[in-house]
Amino acid sequence: MSGVATGIRSRRDDREWSTGMCWLYCRMSEIPVLRLGPITAAGLETGMYGCEMCVAELEHMVKDAATGRDT
Ligand SMILES: [Zn+2]
Repeated sequence: MSGVATGIRSRRDDREWSTGMCWLYCRMSEIPVLRLGPITAAGLETGMYGCEMCVAELEHMVKDAATGRDT
């Protein structure tokens, strides 16, 4: 077993968490991460993952952008 994509279900919601590296702000590894979706970079597509704390920050920014607020 490699420890990747174990498919742990969070107690908070029904999104699928696995153990791996956070691709967002903290860059920690071997932590519970959520698959955020595919990302295309350098001509390649792969899955992108973020930890609970960074996903919360990302969601905050997305909500701000979606509602058109600057701050
Ligand atoms: Zn993180």
